[in-house]
Amino acid sequence: MIYLDYNATTPIASAVLEAMMPYLKDEWGNAASSYRFGSKLKSVIEDAREKVADLLGAHPLEILFTSCGTESNNAAINAALLAHPGKKHIITCVTEHSSVLSHCRALEMRGYRVTYLPVDHEGLINLFDLEADITEETALVSIMWANNETGVLSPIENIGKLCRQKGVLYHCDAVQVAGKLPINLKHLPIDYLTITGHKITAPKGVGALFIRKTVPFSPYLYGGHQERERRGGTEAIPLIVGLASAAQITKRKLPTYSTKVTSLRDSFESTILSTVASAKRNGDPQKRLPNTSSITFRGIEAEAFLLLLDQQGICASSGSACLSDSPDPSNVIAAMTRDNSAARQTLRFSLDATTTPKELETTAECIQSIVQKLKPS
Ligand code: PLP
Repeated sequence: MIYLDYNATTPIASAVLEAMMPYLKDEWGNAASSYRFGSKLKSVIEDAREKVADLLGAHPLEILFTSCGTESNNAAINAALLAHPGKKHIITCVTEHSSVLSHCRALEMRGYRVTYLPVDHEGLINLFDLEADITEETALVSIMWANNETGVLSPIENIGKLCRQKGVLYHCDAVQVAGKLPINLKHLPIDYLTITGHKITAPKGVGALFIRKTVPFSPYLYGGHQERERRGGTEAIPLIVGLASAAQITKRKLPTYSTKVTSLRDSFESTILSTVASAKRNGDPQKRLPNTSSITFRGIEAEAFLLLLDQQGICASSGSACLSDSPDPSNVIAAMTRDNSAARQTLRFSLDATTTPKELETTAECIQSIVQKLKPS
């Protein structure tokens, strides 16, 4: 198998699994228990919190463990709205992940007003649009750091600064950035930031939300006293330990990740673009993640393309993994190109530092022969 869908999910690293094993087998107590078999696990959770905080340049008390990126995004939006009950306006962007867009649509049904900022053909928002749309009514701006389909990077520092000037909370979905680019929240004007474990070699079912010490937070899940009353539910200790271990490993690998993956991705892209006449790259060529390549193959439906790639053992995708069973074209490519057919003819290849030049060479050859087979006559 050639796996080129690391933005969808990643395998669990062996060291992560090893770190988790004691908590899956022997140390299965409940951290809330009064006896030591359970209560000693409190320090395991706090140690994990420190490691995740370290990846983000945050204080450990600013880290809330959640079940996934979707929960973190929903919890941040919920908290910002509860912080300002009189403010009924949210600003987000048309190319956000469904975990933000679907929540916003549900909020519209409950009387909130949502502005969905457009993007240009490179996938970038216009900061003047954002500034013009912030009003006294605005409670929150939620704009992601890196787009999951194109890898395009938003100007998060400028967005954050503008939000600070206007007194509006800023939530940033950084699910695709963790493990790929350095994150230092000490120096970033971000109030809430989302990450998830399964994109950084931790298991599925665990995520985290950064909540700046100075900003308000109300629980999204009510229950027991866990997570300092911020999220009810018995802590998933093995998963939390897995997230922390992945955070540590990922941080260690960061200094070499970008150079390695950029060179793999760029050489793959230039092979495709120079040998397939109908291929066009999407997204700002500079302001994007090092590992992501979004390519439209004019005249060829992505669904058929992916099927033939799969037959050759190659895993890629046509956009967000969460919407891969939806009949709708990619909202991201459609917003950038204003062209629904391009949105149905786009593939995403997302690489890892472990991807080999040979795998990319084989993939490029398969792409060339599939294009020959499927291209319109
Ligand atoms: N945000 C982005 C940008 C994503 O790519 C994803 C997952 O694909 C999510 C949020 C949701 O994360 P999770 O799958 O952990 O719910």
